[in-house]
Amino acid sequence: MYPKDLWRLTLFVLLALAVGALFGYAAEAVALTVLGYCVWLYRNLHGLLAWLRDSKHREPPEHPGVFEEIAVEIDYLRERHKKRKKKLANYLKQFQQATRALPDATVVLDEDGAVQWANQAAGKYLGIRWPEDVDQRITNLIRLPQVRDFVQEHDEAHTIEIPSPTNPQRFLSILLAPYGRDQWLFVARDITQLHRANQIRSDFVANVSHELRTPTTVFKGYLETLLDQQDQCPPSWRPALEQMSAHADRMQSLIEELLLLSRLEREDHVPDPQPVLVSEVLSEVLREARELSGPHDHIFSLEADPDLRVLGSRNEIYSAISNLVFNAVNYTPPRGIVQVRWFRDESGAHLEVQDNGIGIGEEHLERVTERFYRIDPSRSRDDGGTGLGLAIVKHVLMRHDATLDVRSRLGEGSTFRCDFPPERIVAEEVQPDARRQDGAA
Ligand code: ADP
Repeated sequence: MYPKDLWRLTLFVLLALAVGALFGYAAEAVALTVLGYCVWLYRNLHGLLAWLRDSKHREPPEHPGVFEEIAVEIDYLRERHKKRKKKLANYLKQFQQATRALPDATVVLDEDGAVQWANQAAGKYLGIRWPEDVDQRITNLIRLPQVRDFVQEHDEAHTIEIPSPTNPQRFLSILLAPYGRDQWLFVARDITQLHRANQIRSDFVANVSHELRTPTTVFKGYLETLLDQQDQCPPSWRPALEQMSAHADRMQSLIEELLLLSRLEREDHVPDPQPVLVSEVLSEVLREARELSGPHDHIFSLEADPDLRVLGSRNEIYSAISNLVFNAVNYTPPRGIVQVRWFRDESGAHLEVQDNGIGIGEEHLERVTERFYRIDPSRSRDDGGTGLGLAIVKHVLMRHDATLDVRSRLGEGSTFRCDFPPERIVAEEVQPDARRQDGAA
């Protein structure tokens, strides 16, 4: 007990004892005093409670002793709490002002994808307004399948690009970041300029390639005619004609591959996907690979699930597979082994092209799919390589929701693996129909 109160109680009890003893009622006097003290304590507690409940405009109650100390302590804590609350509110206001002024559209979503807060740029780029759109699902406000999948999968590892719902001429890059407890930040950045620059580059490459196509064909045609009529040309012209013909061939494949890449880049998905019987494509590619190997006598092995089909474009899949298999031949010394596997498991359908050739150094692995990236440019050129093969493979796979995994060791060989997701596999029951479509293609 608080010392002052203890003294006070002791004094009252002693006084009551003395007065009570004088009149012969000592015990009754002490009991009455203690009871009075309890009533007094209760009154003070009640006063404290009333002040606690409604202390907005009142000073702390002035009860003597421990109650006064408690009231002062509570009052001090309250003031401190009030100041802290004000400070936090100020911080929050400043934060909201800063994020409202951010040039990127920022929307706070709850775990179900419903809007909790949005800044000004969100109104401009996404048409989402705060507080009007609070508690509306973002997938109802932006009705695009990519956004729906992106938000549902909580895909924080990737970004997606979409046209702005408020202005289709504008392009946005969207990212999702976990925020607070079960909340998500949906951030949209204006990438219209970047998109335009990419478009200009891609159009430029496509136009130049297209313009070069006809002259190269004419040039190549005349060269072939001249080579066919060598007897009418001076013998000293022959090496020059042969060299020109080889370069014309290279230029033609470069132009064709650049045009193919431009076509692949134009859209993220295959426009009219059909079931593709990959085992059949593989047999065709391997036939050509044997011809390419010619006197180098590479050893080929093929293990393929004969009925495994994926939904996509046969031409594109053919192009990707042939690039991988022909690379395996080109970068594997004579009598080397090229193994091809096509199989499925619970994670999807997989194509593996493995060789025991020259391999790729670890420092190049990240970059081999970049266009024109060649580890040994002169060797690649000698083999007729354009440096675009793996870029084409990557784009084809992207258009089929598939990914490329490259494993290699310098001097030991390489394994290129294409992983198609299970959704791309054509279910068994549609096979007869699919067989007809394939045959038609
Ligand atoms: P290229 O037309 O030069 O073959 P690609 O894009 O197909 O162009 O391949 C890029 C580079 O990756 C090649 O120049 C080569 O250095 C390397 N590469 C590709 N496939 C293989 C392989 N199977 N073994 C070793 N190196 C390879």
